[in-house]
Amino acid sequence: MLMMSARHTYQRSSIMEIPDARIVIVGAGFAGIEVARALQKSRARVTVIDRNNYSLFQPLLYQVATAALSPGDVAVPIRALVHGPGMEVVLDEVTAVDPGASVVKTASGRDFPYDILVLAAGSTYNYFGHDDWRQTAIGPKTLNDALAIRRRLLLAFERAETCADEAERRALMTFVIVGGGPTGVEVAGAIAELAKASLVRDFRHIDTASARILLVEAGPRLLPSFDPHLGDYAKMALEKIGVETRLDTRIEDVDEDGVVANGERIRSKVVIWGAGVKANPVAGWLGVEPAKGGQGSVAVAPDFSLKQFPNIHVIGDAAHLIAPDGKPFPKLAAVAKQEGQYLGRLLRDRLAGRVTGRPFVYRDFGTMATIGRSSAIANLRGFNLKGLFAWLLWGAVHIYYLIGFRNRLVVLINWLWAWLTYARGARLLTGKE
Ligand SMILES: Cc1cc2nc3c(=O)[nH]c(=O)nc-3n(C[C@H](O)[C@H](O)[C@H](O)COP(=O)(O)OP(=O)(O)OC[C@H]3O[C@@H](n4cnc5c(N)ncnc54)[C@H](O)[C@@H]3O)c2cc1C
Repeated sequence: MLMMSARHTYQRSSIMEIPDARIVIVGAGFAGIEVARALQKSRARVTVIDRNNYSLFQPLLYQVATAALSPGDVAVPIRALVHGPGMEVVLDEVTAVDPGASVVKTASGRDFPYDILVLAAGSTYNYFGHDDWRQTAIGPKTLNDALAIRRRLLLAFERAETCADEAERRALMTFVIVGGGPTGVEVAGAIAELAKASLVRDFRHIDTASARILLVEAGPRLLPSFDPHLGDYAKMALEKIGVETRLDTRIEDVDEDGVVANGERIRSKVVIWGAGVKANPVAGWLGVEPAKGGQGSVAVAPDFSLKQFPNIHVIGDAAHLIAPDGKPFPKLAAVAKQEGQYLGRLLRDRLAGRVTGRPFVYRDFGTMATIGRSSAIANLRGFNLKGLFAWLLWGAVHIYYLIGFRNRLVVLINWLWAWLTYARGARLLTGKE
C-alpha cells in the first residue's frame, strides 16, 4: 500500500534558539504524544491540550466496541505519559486559533499563548454530507463511540430475547456495518464471533448464531487499499464465519429503523459506520483552505510547518504531505507516530540552536487487518500474507505498539483466554442511550 520509505528535506524555520519557548500541542494521540515526549527534557514550556484525559490506541477500539477488551486496555492517561518540569497537561477542547495573536482558544474560554504551535487533532468519521446519520450509525473513533456501540450490540440481544414480534426480533438481530475497509472488516468479523461463538449458550429464547451480520461496501471489493486477492480472501473468510457481504452497494439512507441500500430497506437496530475519515477542523481554526483531495487536512511543508505561519505545525491525520511516490501519506497510526517523533526531535534541535538537515523518513513496516479468529491479511512492503500467520503477526505488532507494559500484558492475556474459551470478558451493559 505504501512505498517503503520517503525522504524529505525540511526547511529552516525562523523559530530558532529560544530554549524556553512556549510550545502548545493540541491533541495527545499518536502524533501529539510523540512530540511532547521528545520535548520532556528540553527547557521549553510545553502545554499539551486534549479534550480527553487519555491517549487512545484506536486500532484496537473495535475490540472495545465488540466486548473483547475494556476501555482501560486501549487507553493510557496523558498525565502518565508525559512528565518534566516544563510540561503541563490541560483537559480542554480547542475551538479556535488566532495566528495573528499567537493564541489557542478553548471551549472553557481560556487562551493559551504560544511561540510554537503543534496541531495534532486527528480525524473524525466522514458521513459524506449526511451528518444527521452520525447519531444512528456510530463509528468506533472515540472511547465513547466504542462504548455506545457495545451498549447497542449487547442491548439488541437482550431485547431480542424478550421480543414477541418476529419481525422486530429479526431487526434487533440484524447488524449492518457500512464500509468494507479495514475497520468494517474487523468489526464485522468481531460481531460474527460474538454472536456465533461467545454468546451462543447464554440466551434461552433466541439463537444468537442466527444473527444477520451485513457488511456493505460501495465499491466492487473489500479492503480497496490492499491487493485485490487479499480483498477476495477477506470476503471469503468473512462469509465462512457467517458475515453477508454486499459489494457495489450504496447506503442511501440511515434512520432508527435501519438503512436503505441500493433501494432496499434493511431493518436493523444497530448500524455501525466505518466508511472513511476526514480531518478534524484544523483548517477552519487557522482560516486556511484544506488541501485539495485531502479530506479536510492541511497542506504542510516538509518540516510540517505551514507556509503562511512558519511557527505552526500540523501532523498526523490532520496533515497533508505528499510522499515521494506522488501520493499523500496515508492516515495511519504508524505515519502519525513517526511524524510526531520527527517533529519532536526537530523542535528540540532547533530550540537548542542546532541546525539539522535531517529529512523526514517514513519507514513503512506494512499494513494489516484482522478478519476474525485466526485469520488476517497483511501487506509487508509489497509482500502479501494471509491466514493464521498474518493473524499471529497482526497480534504481535499490535501488542508491540500498545503503550505501557500493563496494557500489553492485559491484552495478551485477554486474547489468549478468548482464543481458548471464546469468552468475552467485557460484555457489560453500562451507560445510558
Ligand atoms: C477504528 C480505527 C481503526 C484503525 N486501525 C488502524 C490500524 O490498524 N493501523 C493504523 O496504522 N492506523 C489505524 N487507524 C488510524 C489511526 O488510528 C490514525 O491514523 C491515528 O490515530 C492518527 O493519529 P493522530 O495523532 O493524527 O490523531 P489521533 O490519534 O486521533 O489523536 C488526536 C487527538 O486529538 C484530540 N483532539 C481532537 N480534537 C480536539 C480538540 N478540538 N481539542 C482538543 N483535543 C482534540 C483527540 O482527543 C485525540 O486525543 C485506525 C483508526 C480507527 C478509527
